[in-house]
Amino acid sequence: MADHNALPLVILAEKFASLPGIGMKSAQRLAYHVMSMNENEVEDFAQALIDAKKNVHCCKCCQNLTEREICPICSDDDRDKSVICVVENPKDVSAFERTREYNGVYHVLHGLLSPMDGVTPDSLRIKELLAQGGVNEVIMATNPTVEGDATAMYIAGLLKPLGVKVSRLAFGLPVGGILEYADEVTLYKALENRSNM
Ligand code: ZN
Repeated sequence: MADHNALPLVILAEKFASLPGIGMKSAQRLAYHVMSMNENEVEDFAQALIDAKKNVHCCKCCQNLTEREICPICSDDDRDKSVICVVENPKDVSAFERTREYNGVYHVLHGLLSPMDGVTPDSLRIKELLAQGGVNEVIMATNPTVEGDATAMYIAGLLKPLGVKVSRLAFGLPVGGILEYADEVTLYKALENRSNM
């Protein structure tokens, strides 16, 4: 924003611009829009940000985001706890849930290994996965990217000595395809045709 703009407005625009997918032009538009909202609306908006951050945390079992201690999927007795689908982030859980075909549980890593960016095994929720008991199969459902494949290989290497079957999604997607954009049928097929690692 130009120098003639009020400083709080400039700061607000910079905050919007720090969000993913929002450039400076859009950020400025959003900042001006906030000025056109009434005070209650602005307070509700700010409160929603604070409430989400305060009340949502990782499920103790699967590390997916939830407002409960154990998320609804992990606490569902009809889900097969012996099959765990390992994904990069919570958005991927939603993608698999949309297929309505998967009846196991999940484990969210909250990232992928990327030593160049300083993401080491300790930065991901890998220990929590290894601590799960009664597991027959772990499906590595990370994206087919360099980081996704490397993370799948790394975790498979830790699980196999424990006698756990490890499989990988069969991607009919182009290499680097992103799970969250895949349609339900593609994802279901990728799950059904998974192969042993
Ligand atoms: Zn859970």
